Amino acid sequence: NIVDIVKNTINLMDNMAKSKDISIDFNYNKEEILINCQHDILTQLVLNLLDNAVKYSNQGGQIKINLLKSAGKILFSIHDDGIGIPQEDISRVFERFYRVDKARSQKAGGTGLGLAIVKHIVISLSGKIKVNSEVGKYTEFIVEIPLSDQDKD
Ligand code: ATP
Ligand code: MG
Repeated sequence: NIVDIVKNTINLMDNMAKSKDISIDFNYNKEEILINCQHDILTQLVLNLLDNAVKYSNQGGQIKINLLKSAGKILFSIHDDGIGIPQEDISRVFERFYRVDKARSQKAGGTGLGLAIVKHIVISLSGKIKVNSEVGKYTEFIVEIPLSDQDKD
């Protein structure tokens, strides 16, 4: 159940978020949204995106997570009002080891593998991922996962 996975992941990130006074808002349209796949890969997917949202947000930021199940698919989005990604870097953030502006990323720490893993997981679920961002304003990752016939009802 991806609803529980998101809730558990938010709990995992709770300390880091609280230390920066960041609020995490989670909205979902069903209590139970089942996907037939390994539990670990969904946790990895959500955790990497949420880790970035917290890491690249400023003190007092707001993170909004939406999870919607509709007819044939699941839409998962995560929006932060943090530092943003420059347009020229957007197409490269899913590459292994790619980090925007070494100086600013160095401070936050990391290896630049998180989003490469995310992309890999989304592809393994036959899904799609896209990112919208504006420097100094916001970043939003949108993941679309098609539901198999057995997961539809
Ligand atoms: P790791 O995830 O391996 O710990 P990382 O966070 O640097 O390291 P990725 O998660 O792959 O690596 O992200 C790649 C780069 O994209 C980051 O270094 C950062 O510059 C940028 N980025 C990712 N998510 C965000 C975000 N929500 N806001 C701003 N920049 C982001
Ligand atoms: Mg990361």
